[in-house]
Amino acid sequence: SRFSKPQARPRRRLVVLSGPTAVGKGTVEAALTKAHPQVWVSVSATTRAPRPGEVDGKTYYFLTEDQFEQMRRNNEFLETAIVHNMAHYGTPLQPVLDHLQDGVPTILEIDLQGARRVRERAAELGLDVLFVFLAPPSFDDLITRLAERGTENPEQRMKRLATARVELAAEKEFDVVITNTHVDEAAEELWRVICQEYGVDPET
Ligand code: 5GP
Repeated sequence: SRFSKPQARPRRRLVVLSGPTAVGKGTVEAALTKAHPQVWVSVSATTRAPRPGEVDGKTYYFLTEDQFEQMRRNNEFLETAIVHNMAHYGTPLQPVLDHLQDGVPTILEIDLQGARRVRERAAELGLDVLFVFLAPPSFDDLITRLAERGTENPEQRMKRLATARVELAAEKEFDVVITNTHVDEAAEELWRVICQEYGVDPET
């Protein structure tokens, strides 16, 4: 009836999933979308060439330098970055706004620097963001992952170690911390956070 208490309106913040290099952001995100296909994950634009098997509009939007520059000039990116001093990458803003507007759980997976830029830009745009930090179970675990990943000499490994310490300290800038002990459990924890944000039944 019109006398019943109004329902609390879901806040519907953009969910930014970030964390240290090699913590497993992509794997957790893949597990999340597999179990809960109603989640929408932002597709980035890039000027790098597609690799075999990559699909335009799915893996990335593959753009020419001119197309990218045009979009940047038109303020059509939430954030951009140059990776490895070569290719441009960016998060198209409009699809993010459209999905949020439609109440679709909206996720952006991005590295820590990118998350910082999103924080700055979001403030300008009046966009509400929930920052989720994916943490390794321990510092040692992160070091092991980093070592397993590449073929690095001891000096490079020392540098990565130092980077890892700095990256772990970023945790305090985040709203929610999820520890990636088991991928599927981390994905479900993220799902529960999303459900709370979007007023979704976790059993769906
Ligand atoms: P790759 O070219 O191997 O797919 O990605 C290279 C790097 O670009 C990765 O570290 C990835 O996180 C980063 N990247 C991909 N899309 C974006 C984006 O939209 N914004 C930012 N800042 N980095 C991105």
